[in-house]
Amino acid sequence: NTVTVALGRRNYKIFIGRDLLARLEEFLPRELSSRCLVVTDDNVDPIYGQRLINVLKSLGFRPAKVVVPAGEASKSLAGAEALYDRAFEHGLDRRSPIIALGGGVVGDLAGFIAATYMRGVPFIQIPTTLLAQVDSSVGGKVAVNHPRGKNIIGAFYQPSAVISDLSLLDTLPVREMRSGMAEVIKYGVIWDDAFFQYLESNLDAAMGLDSRVMQAVVARCCEIKAGIVAEDERESGLRAILNYGHTIGHAVESLGGYHLKNHGEAVAVGMVMEAVLARQMGQLDVKELERLMALIQKVPLDISLPGEWHKQQAIELMRQDKKAVGNEMFFVLPECIGRVHIKKVSDQQLDDLLPVE
Ligand code: NAD
Ligand code: ZN
Repeated sequence: NTVTVALGRRNYKIFIGRDLLARLEEFLPRELSSRCLVVTDDNVDPIYGQRLINVLKSLGFRPAKVVVPAGEASKSLAGAEALYDRAFEHGLDRRSPIIALGGGVVGDLAGFIAATYMRGVPFIQIPTTLLAQVDSSVGGKVAVNHPRGKNIIGAFYQPSAVISDLSLLDTLPVREMRSGMAEVIKYGVIWDDAFFQYLESNLDAAMGLDSRVMQAVVARCCEIKAGIVAEDERESGLRAILNYGHTIGHAVESLGGYHLKNHGEAVAVGMVMEAVLARQMGQLDVKELERLMALIQKVPLDISLPGEWHKQQAIELMRQDKKAVGNEMFFVLPECIGRVHIKKVSDQQLDDLLPVE
């Protein structure tokens, strides 16, 4: 099963299925140099690192490997610098692929190196988390963090291919699986009621990694994101709807501390609260709100605010959202499951929504 991301000359394919790693040669672009660089983290490396290196060697590549510590802290300029050093040492040239084997952290970091080393070398994504397979590996945003903010230093840089091997998810911790499922549900809300209904009927099978269901789920999410990205690669309009749940979600994520809520867990809270906001503004039927809450709780994801919640701080964080213009805040609000729009929200409306403690 493949999904094509239609970006003219920079078209590329997302390959989705089980046991794809063993068939890597079918998915790699032509005309790559033999020297290549694999980037992974220290959770993924012991499970899949050697397998990938062996496959690459059997195809005639001369791979070097960089293993970064798992976690957001590796997505830094210092982390990037270590990768450039390694790329030089190993003699990578302009046709040498950089291969990301890991979750969104590894993908964003490796992609940033691929975008900037020699002004751009081929980039191959092998996403290993659900979040990376349905979201971060698609769309070409690459970045590292700055002490002042997440993803501040980055680029739009499309990969040459994305290989989403569903069997890699077999070892994913359940908490990461649930977190990724929040983004999956997001696609249903912003774009596709039929897909949302599919999730309502097949969530347990998806969480149990049923291959037919997971194939359908990952493919549909990639199709939806690819379609949105093809229409608005650089986020001048439509692409902002992917941000549903994230305006409040980001605030929850940074306030709660990363140990309290991870990204998907925070987005789950954000999606519910932004839907409640839409409801308060009279745009969303209560039945639709209930469907959303029921599906999120079925995962299960917790929809309560984190322990360390400070309303004023949260509002300040939301003001820094990239959709904000001057002092005005914009939210992606659902009208029904399957359709959202971007709407200005007044301070008063937000104040009414958010609890004090
Ligand atoms: P992650 O990369 O930190 O992975 C989560 C955890 O799972 C890590 O501990 C990792 O080592 C482990 N892991 C990964 N694959 C595994 C496997 N198959 N088996 C066992 N353990 C495994 O987190 P994530 O949720 O994948 O990605 C989050 C990052 O993605 C954030 O930095 C975020 O900014 C970024 N992101 C980027 C985009 C984009 O468009 N570029 C979109 C969404 C998120
Ligand atoms: Zn997200």
